[in-house]
Amino acid sequence: MKFSDPITIALSKGRIFKQTLPLLNHAGIQPLDDPDKSRKLILQTNHSQVRLLIIRATDVPTYVQWGAADIGIAGKDVLLEHGGEGLYEPLDLRIAACQLMVAGAEGASLTGNRLRIATKYVDAARRHFAAKGQQVEIIKLYGSMELAPLVGLSDLIVDLVESGNTLKANGLVPLEFITDISSRLVVNKAAWKMKHATVTGLLETLREAVSLPE
Ligand code: ATP
Ligand code: MG
Repeated sequence: MKFSDPITIALSKGRIFKQTLPLLNHAGIQPLDDPDKSRKLILQTNHSQVRLLIIRATDVPTYVQWGAADIGIAGKDVLLEHGGEGLYEPLDLRIAACQLMVAGAEGASLTGNRLRIATKYVDAARRHFAAKGQQVEIIKLYGSMELAPLVGLSDLIVDLVESGNTLKANGLVPLEFITDISSRLVVNKAAWKMKHATVTGLLETLREAVSLPE
């Protein structure tokens, strides 16, 4: 496709970058560097008008909200915590799919007040237990949540689960489903207006790529 406005797309390296590449390719966009090999944080593409910002997954909505990127690709988990202010979320890219779950030791109790929940997903966890009428104590962590119940930091964790292998390797099991997670395309609200034809053109091309059979 043709890009009549400059477009900056924010995304994280790792699974999101890898799974986004075929979608971008469908729109004729090819990055000129591989973020796993290069230390560049701004990747140029074969289109002089299109560049990619390689940032931490949790920072993607922030760059888009403030207009430093026009478009972003972020997990629904990250968007739930961010709140989505200043963003449109027009497309589920159906990549990096997993589930947000409550997990703990097999047979651990899910009921009662004052349960301690260790998680990176403070808001989603609080909302989940509040909806069940439970007041819980949330302990904010930044990673390796599986450790918390093993050393008595928490009773339970709230984390993303794909195969369950990481939980299993640490003697934990998924106990309760919270929500399905996948990566979403987000668009800055001003860019949506100011670069309307380019943004919606790219959006429709990506929508087509998402619905192609694998
Ligand atoms: P960092 O590794 O930089 O601390 P992160 O762990 O959030 O950040 P990734 O592990 O690359 O970064 O995860 C990026 C996104 O991929 C998450 O926000 C989530 O949407 C999705 N994701 C995370 N874990 C899984 C998983 N096990 N299966 C599928 N998707 C996942
Ligand atoms: Mg990670």
